[in-house]
Amino acid sequence: MDWAEFELWSQKFATWGREYRETLRDRPVRAPLDPGAIMAQLPSNPPETPESMDAIFADFEKIILPGMTHWQHPRFFAYFTSNAAPQSVLAEQLAAVMAAQCMLWQTSPAATELETRMIDWLGQAIGLPSHFSGTLQDGASGATLAAVLMMREKATQGQANARGLAGGPQLRLYCSNGVHTSIDRAAWFSGIGGDNLVRIPVTGDMGAMDVDVLRETIHADRAAGHIPAGIIISVGGTGTGATDDVAACIALAKSETIMTHVDAAWAGSAMICPEFRHYWAGIEGADSIVFNPHKWLGAQFECAAHFVANPRDLQDAMAIHPAYLATQNADEIINYSEWSIGLGRRFRALKLWFLLRSEGVDALRTMIRNHVAWSEKVCEALRVTPGITIVTEPMLSLFTFALDAGDAATQSLLDRINDDGRIYITPTKVDGCTVIRFVTGQWEMAEEDADLAIKVILELM
Ligand code: PLP
Repeated sequence: MDWAEFELWSQKFATWGREYRETLRDRPVRAPLDPGAIMAQLPSNPPETPESMDAIFADFEKIILPGMTHWQHPRFFAYFTSNAAPQSVLAEQLAAVMAAQCMLWQTSPAATELETRMIDWLGQAIGLPSHFSGTLQDGASGATLAAVLMMREKATQGQANARGLAGGPQLRLYCSNGVHTSIDRAAWFSGIGGDNLVRIPVTGDMGAMDVDVLRETIHADRAAGHIPAGIIISVGGTGTGATDDVAACIALAKSETIMTHVDAAWAGSAMICPEFRHYWAGIEGADSIVFNPHKWLGAQFECAAHFVANPRDLQDAMAIHPAYLATQNADEIINYSEWSIGLGRRFRALKLWFLLRSEGVDALRTMIRNHVAWSEKVCEALRVTPGITIVTEPMLSLFTFALDAGDAATQSLLDRINDDGRIYITPTKVDGCTVIRFVTGQWEMAEEDADLAIKVILELM
């Protein structure tokens, strides 16, 4: 392909993109397909000779598009949204064309310095004090793994990277049962081990760790010769929005000299609204925090903001300086690859810059407030419907409900709703029972979409 053809197709794709996004409401949210249906349409061997873009694009529309679940559909109420605002898509296009590998300051000074500024803007937007710095990781899973590696090195005085963990005391991590599985995987991948991820029983409506039990567990672990390395604090867990008492957990961690990492992957975006910051009161004392602007805020995937109180701790766990990466101005610059798992890095800050400038934080606040209000509207409509129980109350824009007729009936309702295609919702378990999660957050959602969700659920009950 030459660049003239590239230009032609880019223009066609822009038109296609507008039409796609503007007509999403007419499509089923979830791909109504059986496994293998797409694979059966794909040739088993790679082509030896060139095919035309016309043919490839025609196949994209014929084969690929029907097999897509439409994450940008305004009635996507499943998982957590993964918003891609138009401005961020445009910025991604520029980043893709430049295709810079932004591992070091000198491999793209603008990418590094814009990233520093964007972390600063985001920190201000969500009300963090100015002592935090940070980086844009690929996802919350990567940020949490980085945080756990930081905890591991801190707890072993930097020895784990050098010697491994074999033969030493067990390191311990603490969290509730409401955390995302990225915490489990960080425990596995760091070599600390799933058995050393200690689940603390919860208390209260928010699914918060019982801090008294947490303290006793830490003391018992020390007495047994283990090393408490870190507390993972949840703000808006994936299943039902489990949220710990951030201030109490951090106060305990400080008194025990243990590091803290706050997983606010989803809920963190809502902290641009001051009225929601009570959910993480005490956050200023955290060692590490992650939230994903790629979930609710509108910055296209991948974009996870990872804040740290002391970047030296992160670098102590991550940085390595081979001769082939020797860099100019080493004392004055940041090399963000020393703050994250991967060496190679995409230019992630550009989409945030476009998004924050072209929307302004206040418009994003309005979007989030609307989503919370519309979720509450759906919740209240279901609450007064005989046969439905609200199982967990709204945490921001997430609540869960079930049919009084039991698990099989709830699952069957969920299947009917998703087969219908007008909305998409997903299940989880609460106390062993099947419940349906309902969460708003899609970039182009309007109140009419909440109204239709109520209609669909009641109609298919
Ligand atoms: N933490 C929470 C609370 C999540 O909900 C998720 C994903 O939904 C993650 C972490 C993992 O995020 P990522 O996909 O960015 O790794």
